Amino acid sequence: MKINTKCIQAGYSPKNSEPRVVPIVQSTTFAYDTAETMGNLFDLKEEGFFYTRLGNPTLDAVEKKIAALEGGVGAMLTSSGQAASLISITNICKSGDHVICSAAIYGGTFNLFNKTLRDLGIEFTFVDPAIDKEELNSKFKSNTKAVFAETLTNPSLDITDIEMFAQVAHAHHVPLIIDNTFATPINCRPFEWGADIVVHSTSKYMDGHAVALGGVIVDSGNFDWNSGDYKMLTTPDETYHGVIYTEQFGKAAYIVKARTHLMRDLGPQQSPQNAFLLNLGLETLHLRMPRHCENAMKVAQFLEKSDKVEWINYPSLKGNKYYDLAQKYMPNGTCGVIAFGPKGGKEGAARMMEALKLAKIVIHVADARTCVLHPATTTHRQLNDEQLAAAGIMPNMIRLSVGIEDIDDILEDIAQALEKV
Ligand SMILES: *Cc1c(COP(=O)(O)O)cnc(C)c1O
Repeated sequence: MKINTKCIQAGYSPKNSEPRVVPIVQSTTFAYDTAETMGNLFDLKEEGFFYTRLGNPTLDAVEKKIAALEGGVGAMLTSSGQAASLISITNICKSGDHVICSAAIYGGTFNLFNKTLRDLGIEFTFVDPAIDKEELNSKFKSNTKAVFAETLTNPSLDITDIEMFAQVAHAHHVPLIIDNTFATPINCRPFEWGADIVVHSTSKYMDGHAVALGGVIVDSGNFDWNSGDYKMLTTPDETYHGVIYTEQFGKAAYIVKARTHLMRDLGPQQSPQNAFLLNLGLETLHLRMPRHCENAMKVAQFLEKSDKVEWINYPSLKGNKYYDLAQKYMPNGTCGVIAFGPKGGKEGAARMMEALKLAKIVIHVADARTCVLHPATTTHRQLNDEQLAAAGIMPNMIRLSVGIEDIDDILEDIAQALEKV
């Protein structure tokens, strides 16, 4: 199947007389005829559903679809993108381990890593997303267990050189985890460039309608865990009667452990209702992404020419510092998100945003409706101007998430609002 067909058909194929559409299986639990079967399920000797925290047919269909879209061996849905990032790291890192992470990542991920996981004893080194090969190489330590970065960063729109990051990580027998939320598998499939694990906040483009919070982890199945450094995967798990994940589950060891160990213990499972809504979003992902990119490109070209705009950052625009990497990794387009700064500083930005009619001011990003956010007075309001600069956030930065309305209406709204700056 081509990727456009996978968006619609992958993951679920009804048998005779079963529902054509993935049904919502709104049940926490599943019935069996014998205690023995149930025992085998518990011991992972047989496959089947027994409790929705560990698996559910609605979630299973959507997980298989997303694994097919990314080209992985398996996927696990989570209740949010935050839960996906949390489990992607803690599945292979414990207290005393070290992670190398791009400094240009989603603010929520930064707090999770830099505060919460650091407090739990996992050490992080944050690096410039434009770091070169030698310097990245120099950041590895004997206890480095993972490298983490975003394909396209939120909100600064830096692009990670995934192939280079993967080569350096693999030279140290360490996996590369990529947050592919903004690009989606329609525009970039990180496994094709050497990434080993992909995470998403499905709350963004995958759902695409701003209705269902969710996340997902996808395993490429390509990483060899047998270096001796990933004992949690290669030695017996006593909480599962001594199962050795790499022996029993082969290429799917990482994603099986994420479910049977961390989803079991931490419990951030997606609800069947949300998985159903996510699946509806996925059915049009291949139609929506090109339109988001087409509209965003036209808006970017318009802003670039406007004398009311001080600066603009959109990686698909010629002259952008990430233009070459954008062409390499996302030749069909990056995403619908643009960062720009109108004239008149912080106040100019506020005046413009308040004058918008079609585009609303919201925290969310990457859905069908055009929306804006002013990071300096919202998500990053606790920082002063100096700290904002260090975080790559200009006081007048507007994050504009271009939707899939008619481009003429979007441009008209932006043009009239820019008159107010
Ligand atoms: C929103 C977002 C997250 C967090 O996802 P939630 O679903 O809000 O928990 C993680 N990474 C990126 C790139 C995001 O944009």
